[in-house]
Parts: sequence; C-alpha cells; structure tokens
Amino acid sequence: MKFALRDDDACYFTPVARLERVYHDVWTRVPVCLATVPFAVGYERVGIPREHWSSGESFALERNGELVAALRELIAARRVTVALHGYTHQDFPDGYEFQAAPDPERRVREGLKYLTGLLQADVSVFVPPHNALSKRGLSAVGNAGLNILGSFLSFRPSMRPWDRRTLANWWRVRRYRAATGRRKSDPCIYPHPLRYANHAEFGCHSLIPGTTLDQLVAGFDEARRAGGDFCLATHYWEVDGPMKAVMLRFLDHAAAHADVRFVAAEELFTV
Ligand SMILES: [Zn+2]
Repeated sequence: MKFALRDDDACYFTPVARLERVYHDVWTRVPVCLATVPFAVGYERVGIPREHWSSGESFALERNGELVAALRELIAARRVTVALHGYTHQDFPDGYEFQAAPDPERRVREGLKYLTGLLQADVSVFVPPHNALSKRGLSAVGNAGLNILGSFLSFRPSMRPWDRRTLANWWRVRRYRAATGRRKSDPCIYPHPLRYANHAEFGCHSLIPGTTLDQLVAGFDEARRAGGDFCLATHYWEVDGPMKAVMLRFLDHAAAHADVRFVAAEELFTV
C-alpha cells in the first residue's frame, strides 16, 4: 500500500521557517508534495498580508529567493516534490481560478514551464485551487498531460470532458460506493487512481482543523481493505500543535503496517 502526503499553497507568501516548523520531522519519513502557486495573487486567508487580500497584484515565486533556494535543496534531498497548484490561485467573481479564469490552457502551460525551469524539477501533478475544476479546466490540465490530485472531484460524466474511459470510471466509483454501503450524498474517496485517456486522478483525504485521528484511521483502513492507496492533504499555514499531533500519530499508525510504503505523491500514479 502506497501512502503519500500533499501540502497546498506554497507560494511567494510562504516563509521557509513556517514549512520547516511543520515538516522538519515529517519529510524525513515521507516526501511532501508541495502544491505550489507560481504567480500568487492574494486572497483572504491566514498567512497572506491583509493588504494583498484584494490588491490583485501577482507575485512571482522567484521574488521569494529564500524559498526558491530552500525548495531546490529539499527537492534534491528528495524531501519534497512539487506539483502545480493553479497559476495565480486567485478567486474570480464567478468562481475559483480553474472554474472561472478565461484562459486555463495558458495558465497550465505557462505555470508548468515556469515551475520546472525555476526549481529545476519534474512536475507531473496538478492540484486544483480550492479543489475546483470546470469541464474546460479539467480538459486544460489533462491535455497538458498532468495527473490530478483532488479531493471530492466529480466523476459524473456530465461534469467532465468525455473520453473512452469516462463511463467505465464512473461505474467503478459507483460500484465502490455501493460496496461500501454509501448513499448518493455520502462523501466517498475512491482509493485507486482513475485513468483517463490522457491523465489520471487520485482523491486525497483532508487534514484540516477539527479532523480527528479516528476519522483518518477509518479512511486509511477502508482504503487498505479495498487494496488501495492513500494520500493525506493539508495546508501548512493552518497546521497548529493539535493538527501536527494528529498528523504524527496518523503517520505512526500507517508506519505500523509492514506493507505500507511512504512514497512521493507522484508515485500514486505509477503502475
Ligand atoms: Zn490552495
């Protein structure tokens, strides 16, 4: 069983010390996939200075030289991998970036080129800002050949671009929901990669304030029973003492199983 860890929102606004405080004793055990924003535009959240919540100004990652240097070292040491997390991560009046931006194709193409060049890293995964993707946003990402790590992406064929595998994947998820006794409205995280014509998708389990160890263990045990894999997703900027304690105890729970392999999130997609 593969076990991976994803952390969202590394960007110009990220202090290196904040990442180190959360992950110094974690990335020595499991590589952290940092879903990184290449040209961050501020929005209202902890860790972004208030004057940039609505300034609309875009900040290239390279303007945080300390972070870029740290990321290059962490990547070389295999403690970190980098995924593309939108282009600006900005919120539009009528939706999140990959629902509402007029040019998602350009954003994927240029964001990918920028991150791989600046960090001298392979980038093969996309994480949608706010886990939100329109049909066109999904096409843009898939056509760029990027795999998607999400949480609660829709598998309904009407919500997605159509390809030769869409219907079979929809049935797979339906069968899994039925086998696990879920009703239509019950949340479900399918524990295997879903392979589409030009990319694959994998759903993550969230660690947010209030998430308990029991909830994560239940998700992990279910994935394990199904012969699946597991990815935990969190945000460094909201990891406080209690959340960190849950994370460490959960890693211990996973590590106690002899067949669990801690891997970089990219490996969730390899056969
Ligand atoms: Zn985000």
